[in-house]
Amino acid sequence: MILKERPVPIQLLQREALLRRLDTRFYRYKEIEKDLINWKTGYAGEKNTDYYLSYLPEEEFGIINDLRLKNQNTFQMDTILLSLMFGLVLEIKNIVGTLFFDQHTQSVTRIYKDIEEGITNPLIQARRHRNQLLHWMINHRLPPIPLEYLVVISRNSTILKTNPGNEHIFKNIIYAECLEEKINQLAAKYQTPVLKSKSYNKLTQLLLAEHIPSYPEILKMYGIGRTEIVPGVQCPTCKRIPMLRVSATWFCPSCKAYSKDAHFPAVRDYFLLLNEKMTLKQFQEFLLIEKRGVAKGLLHTLHLQVSGSGRTTQYYLPPDCILSPLNENDRKKGDFH
Ligand SMILES: [Zn+2]
Repeated sequence: MILKERPVPIQLLQREALLRRLDTRFYRYKEIEKDLINWKTGYAGEKNTDYYLSYLPEEEFGIINDLRLKNQNTFQMDTILLSLMFGLVLEIKNIVGTLFFDQHTQSVTRIYKDIEEGITNPLIQARRHRNQLLHWMINHRLPPIPLEYLVVISRNSTILKTNPGNEHIFKNIIYAECLEEKINQLAAKYQTPVLKSKSYNKLTQLLLAEHIPSYPEILKMYGIGRTEIVPGVQCPTCKRIPMLRVSATWFCPSCKAYSKDAHFPAVRDYFLLLNEKMTLKQFQEFLLIEKRGVAKGLLHTLHLQVSGSGRTTQYYLPPDCILSPLNENDRKKGDFH
């Protein structure tokens, strides 16, 4: 049973928003495009793994995706599975080419089109996340449960290699399509319940409640000034910015198109790039709406979470970053394109 769905990573959404609102001549534009592709590849690998996880018996496992917890430092796990008998931490990798796990240096080299490149060792990463989750449980005075970890390679075409005699590492690295079989093997190993259903529920509820959503400071990351972000509503037809607010609708002076809901993605871009919260004034300025009353009416139709009152009222980014009815439908289809 899925206890927490996998959201589209905020890092991916932020880069899409940046590319919409930066001058294409910005000196790191190409780099942002490349980084976006990497985030999309990673996310596609995770969705592919989710497909294989969907074969697991619903009643036996609770699945929590994209969980970010804090001990001294925060740590983020791609997926954890929990049963009454054991837990399993998954680190999902979508990598093209050959991966060589060096027994002596513990380093991992990726070889693709004759180019060698060192990458973070996913085994060490997965093991560290397992250990951090164990510490987190101890810190929260939860009964210890056996915790396993696996690196999941989401594409079958990735070739895995290591030094002769070191093949035992592959008991913790598997292809996504072998996941169901591997989990069944683990289930056969752990047959004694270590949790009663009451403490299992307590554990899963606490994990979900303690999740810390990530909000990377994307402008800082690329050295972008706030004034470099182009404000205004983007035309869904010709993609130009800005549209004008005319008689309760959006009008594009470039291609003459009209739109009822083009402000949704604009508000989302504001949240993704500039701040997790906004005031009415910021909303009005970013959407380039002349009249305060018009901005106020429109902002209220978004039904955002608020804090404070009067002129200091703050409106917040929804936790799943989903704002527009359009994206809501996309999510139901399980499609992010
Ligand atoms: Zn247009």
